[in-house]
Amino acid sequence: MRTLTLLILCALANLCAAAGEGQFRIYWIDVEGGAATLMVTPAGESILVDTGNPGVRDANRIVRVATQEANLRKIDHLITTHYHRDHFGGAALLSTLLPVGTVYDNGEFENMPDNPGKEYFGFACDRRVVLQPNDELQLKQHSGSPAVAIRCLGARQQFVSPGASDPRNTNVCAECVEKDRDGSDNANSIVTLISFGNFRFFDGGDLTWNQEMKLVCPNNLIGQVDVYQVTHHGLDSSNNPVVLKTIQPTVAIMNNGETKGCLPEVFANLRGTASIKHIYQMHKNLRPDGEVNNTDDHLIANHEGAKECKGEFILLTVAADSSSYSVSVPSQGTTNSYDTRPKS
Ligand SMILES: [Zn+2]
Repeated sequence: MRTLTLLILCALANLCAAAGEGQFRIYWIDVEGGAATLMVTPAGESILVDTGNPGVRDANRIVRVATQEANLRKIDHLITTHYHRDHFGGAALLSTLLPVGTVYDNGEFENMPDNPGKEYFGFACDRRVVLQPNDELQLKQHSGSPAVAIRCLGARQQFVSPGASDPRNTNVCAECVEKDRDGSDNANSIVTLISFGNFRFFDGGDLTWNQEMKLVCPNNLIGQVDVYQVTHHGLDSSNNPVVLKTIQPTVAIMNNGETKGCLPEVFANLRGTASIKHIYQMHKNLRPDGEVNNTDDHLIANHEGAKECKGEFILLTVAADSSSYSVSVPSQGTTNSYDTRPKS
């Protein structure tokens, strides 16, 4: 009887694996107002962008999602967007819990405004690469699946050069206004564009307002996207509306904390972007302004304060042919489906 049950379970597991074959997945892991975005390609490779805060909580949450949800045994590629503790903080501890392949970051550069220290630069991994604009990660492709690509659009305030086909963005850029310069390492964030067939996902790390403008003015260097990870947790020193107007995402996913990010100006800009069908939040904004600056409850992964928070994740699954994708908030039983939009 036990053998039979095991056989049935194995058959079901194989069926489930077959049903998921060829999909591209993205998990937004809750690191309480930091960033940890985990992608798994149809070839089974994993790419983690940022590792949350120092301490066991965030490293353990990353390991839990990676091993139990995504069935991973290794982080093949780790990108650290910049040297703030809510982005690089979990990396060293994570490397002791799961093997790490290639680490991509800004390296050590002249006049670094923030330094992650020896522990970060010394943790065990297969190799380290300093990313330059226009670099592409060397990813395995899965036969029969659309191509997967991760391209660096910007690093250390340098951006890709416009190509012959990158359109001028004159009308939108005329509205541009600058904000006070941000001298911290946010401005040096590594910016990536992830593509899987027709699907596009933009992750700008914590890139700040005046740098964001360079990605879309005078030329649109990003193109149009399906999914926008709300930059800098939804803080208003980032999320320049010229970016939203240019890249016209369908879905916005904000890795905010219970009181961090999700600021009124950003929320209003997201709400005012006609292309956006749904805004998802990692956390309910529990500040007094939360009443008006929160998306619908069923699109929010975590509703409690940090102390009671269970660290629920958000999952995006792109269909094997890249024609559509779904976003799930498992803690709320929510799943919404979208067609991949045609890109101009
Ligand atoms: Zn941050």
